[in-house]
Amino acid sequence: MKILVLNSGSSSVKYRLFNGTDTLAKGLIERIGESGGDAGDHEAALQQVMAAVDLDGLGAVGHRVVHGGSEFGRATVIDDELFAVIEGLVPLAPLHNPAALSGIAVARKLLPDVPQVAVFDTAFHQTIPPDGVAYAIDASLAKRWQIRRYGFHGTSHAYVARKTAELLGLPADRARVITLHLGNGASACAVSGGRSVATSMGMSPQSGLVMGTRSGDVDPTVIFHLHRVAGLPIEEIERSLTRFAGLQGLAGENDMRTVQQHRADGDPAATLAFDVYCRRIKEYVGTYLAVLGGADAIVFTAGVGENSPEVRAASLAGLAELGITIDAARNERSERIISPEGARVRVCVVPTDEELEIAQQVTAELQK
Ligand code: ADP
Repeated sequence: MKILVLNSGSSSVKYRLFNGTDTLAKGLIERIGESGGDAGDHEAALQQVMAAVDLDGLGAVGHRVVHGGSEFGRATVIDDELFAVIEGLVPLAPLHNPAALSGIAVARKLLPDVPQVAVFDTAFHQTIPPDGVAYAIDASLAKRWQIRRYGFHGTSHAYVARKTAELLGLPADRARVITLHLGNGASACAVSGGRSVATSMGMSPQSGLVMGTRSGDVDPTVIFHLHRVAGLPIEEIERSLTRFAGLQGLAGENDMRTVQQHRADGDPAATLAFDVYCRRIKEYVGTYLAVLGGADAIVFTAGVGENSPEVRAASLAGLAELGITIDAARNERSERIISPEGARVRVCVVPTDEELEIAQQVTAELQK
């Protein structure tokens, strides 16, 4: 079946047209609404997409939607009611859901006869048990304001965990896999028998691992202190922790390649940034080994995970006692399996493909 996958951001639309697992076309419309940008608004952007690809025989459009709240554990066909539900989730994802909604609205208008399906970043994590999603805060506040862990990057964690089990010939219903999605955003996930049982991002994509510009875990008192003692307004603190933190905050650079270069040149700030980044990964690996009661595989994916032997080696250094080691030569070549022959815990590098996973989930949902 031919599926058009759309990933609509606030100022960009990424698209990819599939026939089964084959990619027929793909592209990126950028700087929407900016002077000199590729398109004036989302409608113009989607019109460009439709002019660029052959939509003859199109079976469905799959939309990436970041936040599905507590409602959606799977890809879901979009009707007026679902559209309203996604709108209702905007307060939980003010930076992400509005863009997806404009993409959906325009696609429904331009392709009224084609089924539109929402695929949520949060859906894969709906299987995390209650004790893995509840924050230990006043329960009445949490309930009233929908405060809980949701988790993100779900399509990537699902795809990569499944691919890893296939690669290693692990039984799909029993494999215990720790997935490390290290891109500009970064998150870890514990996957048991193909189901997410723990993940590092929380109510928003802000918590957990150190990211390009996001802090990952901090004590909430950091926020109270910056507000009460330093006198910063809440919006400025949010900006600081989401845009000027992470690698950017520690090293003045958000791109891991640059951080690694500066570290190689002996820059102490870049060295600390790299060390904090890798230590945080190791801490989560330890946590998820405990959650899963051991692991069959640990898998690295996304820009940093797929391309940085240095990060992979440093993140898992010193864990031989736990059965976790890396073969230096395999790691340097970014082979699919980078642990030595016969290792108790296999360590892998598996490229993620969120668009393909979306297309497959859309197909599965429509064939149901
Ligand atoms: P996104 O989350 O936006 O999809 P990617 O998955 O492409 O991003 O990851 C981007 C990150 O990957 C950047 O920090 C970039 O520096 C890093 N990266 C890409 N190639 C390398 C490399 N060879 N070595 C280290 N980091 C890399």
